[in-house]
Amino acid sequence: MSISTKLQLTTSNNGDENVTEKKHLYLNPNVVGLKESPTLRINQHCKELVAKGRHIYKLGLGQSPFPVPDSVVNALRLYAPQKDYLHVQGLTELRKAVADFHRKKDGVDILPSNVIIGPGSKELLFLLQMVFEGEVIIPSPSWVSYLPQAKIIGNTIHVLHTKPEEQWRLMPEQLDAFCKENNKAGNKNYLLILNYPGNPDGITYSKESIEQLAETARRNNIYILSDEIYGQLHHEGNHVSIAKFYPEGTIISSGLSKWCGAGGWRLGTFSFPSNLHWLLEAMAAVASETYTSVSAPIQYAAVTAFNCGAEIEDYLWHVRKILTLLGKEFAAIIKKGNILVNDPTGGFYLFLDFSPLKDKLHKRGITNSAVLCDRLLDEYGVAILPGVDFNRPADELSARLSYVDFDGAKALAASYTVPLHEKLPADFLEHYCSNVIEAAEKITEWANKND
Ligand code: PMP
Repeated sequence: MSISTKLQLTTSNNGDENVTEKKHLYLNPNVVGLKESPTLRINQHCKELVAKGRHIYKLGLGQSPFPVPDSVVNALRLYAPQKDYLHVQGLTELRKAVADFHRKKDGVDILPSNVIIGPGSKELLFLLQMVFEGEVIIPSPSWVSYLPQAKIIGNTIHVLHTKPEEQWRLMPEQLDAFCKENNKAGNKNYLLILNYPGNPDGITYSKESIEQLAETARRNNIYILSDEIYGQLHHEGNHVSIAKFYPEGTIISSGLSKWCGAGGWRLGTFSFPSNLHWLLEAMAAVASETYTSVSAPIQYAAVTAFNCGAEIEDYLWHVRKILTLLGKEFAAIIKKGNILVNDPTGGFYLFLDFSPLKDKLHKRGITNSAVLCDRLLDEYGVAILPGVDFNRPADELSARLSYVDFDGAKALAASYTVPLHEKLPADFLEHYCSNVIEAAEKITEWANKND
C-alpha cells in the first residue's frame, strides 16, 4: 500500500470501529498487542486507587526504597551545569570507574574501552538483543522485559522452565539437554540471559552452581548476558559474577537503579570481554543513531557511585541488613499461611507459589495468577504481580512481590544508629517496615479464607 493511500485511510476513518483495522495496517506486527510493562502499569494503577482514597500495600513495582547516597546526590548538584553531548559509549572517567568496580567487587578484568553506558540497563539489553544474530535463552520465572524485547525485535527466544524445589534455578544439565536437542547440527548462536540475585525470585546461585553453568555455557558455545543489577544487594554481600569463571563469554550488566537507589536517573552499564568488543561496537552504532548518549550530569555523578568509597560501602551494608531482616520475616509469615516461598538471598523480591491452597482458591473462582492478583488487590488492597508476567504458565498460582513499601530513608537512618556488625533491634521492622509486615499478614489471611 502506498503512503498516500495510508494517509487517506487515516483521515477518513476516525471511528473506534476502525482502530483494530488501523492497528493491523499501521503497526509493526511485532508490537501489535504489546502493552505497557506490567510493573509500570501496576504502579500507575496503585496511584489511581490511592487517589480515590484506598489504602494500598504497594508491592508491585520493584523500586529501591532507599535514597541515593548523599555523596552521589551532591555530585549531581555539582555537575548540573554539564551540558554537552557525551561520547556514545559514555564518559571516559565513568567507564574507568565501572571497570574498577568490577575488578574490585567481582575480581574480573574489564578494560574501560569495553564498557558502554546506557539510559538504564533495560535499553542496553534491548540493543544487545537487537544486534545479536542468534537465539535467546531465558530461564523462567524471569524478569518481565526480556521476552517482550525479544518479541519486539523478532528474535527466537526459548524459555526454560525451572522448578520451585530447585529454588527456580537453571540447572546445568537442563541447559545442556536443551542445547543437545535444539542444536543438533551445532551451528547455532545462543545468548543466555541469566539474572541473579533474581527478579522475580530473590534467590542467587551458589559459587559451585555458577561454575557449573559457566562450564556448560563454554562447552555449548553460549554467550551469557549476566544481569547482575542486584549483585550488590546479595544479602550477605557475597555476590559472585559468572564472568569470573567464563570471562571470554560473559557480558556483565549493572547500573545505578537498584544498589544505588537511583532507578529514575536512568543509567545502566554493560561490561564486555575484549574478544566481544565487536558486539559492543554494534550496540554503540545503534545507540548513536537513537539516544546519542546518557544525560551528562548523571554520568558525572555516577563516577562517585561506581568509585564506591567508604560512605557508599557503609550505605550498602545497612541496606543489606534491612533487606535481609525484612525478607526473612516476610517469607516466614507467608510460609505460616501454607504458601510456598524460598528464603530470599538477595534483592527485594519473593516469588510465591499458592499451589498448596489450589483447591480452596479454585472454589473461590481463582484459577489463574492474573485473577489471583486482581482479587487480592480488590479485596485486601495488596498489589502484587501475577506469575504469568514472569513467563510462568497462566494457570499456575504464582506471583511476585517486592517488599519495598516502606520509608527507606527513615529505616536507613535508624540502622545507622546501630553499629555495623550488630543486629538490628527486635522491634525494628515493627517501627520502620510495619506496612510491609501487615501486607504479608494480609496475603496469608486472604489466601486462606473460605469465600
Ligand atoms: N534487569 C532486572 C532483573 C531488573 O529487575 C531491572 C529493573 N527492574 C532491570 C534489568 C532494568 O533496570 P534499569 O533499566 O533501571 O537499569
